[in-house]
Amino acid sequence: MVSQDLLDILACPFCTTAVRLEGEKLLCGNADCNCRYLVRDDIPNMLIEEAERPCPGCGAQRAWDPDRDTLRCTACGKSLTVNAGAAPAAGAPVGKA
Ligand SMILES: [Zn+2]
Ligand SMILES: [Zn+2]
Repeated sequence: MVSQDLLDILACPFCTTAVRLEGEKLLCGNADCNCRYLVRDDIPNMLIEEAERPCPGCGAQRAWDPDRDTLRCTACGKSLTVNAGAAPAAGAPVGKA
């Protein structure tokens, strides 16, 4: 089991929404994100590259584009880009002041 203490601090690395344990997976609480992170040997794998990324619209696995921070469904065209304001990288330039 993943401990509750750990669950309390875990968040989806893509959209920063809290995750919840469901079976052997951690589900992102954001319905638009809908990513599922696998737990192996009680250790959550929070890499979005290795997560299940079912499209909330059609259920197809979405492609992950790390260059654009975007999840894109090739089946229905629905895409989701992480909110740039939610988790800016420390020290990264954020456009014009
Ligand atoms: Zn998420
Ligand atoms: Zn889709």
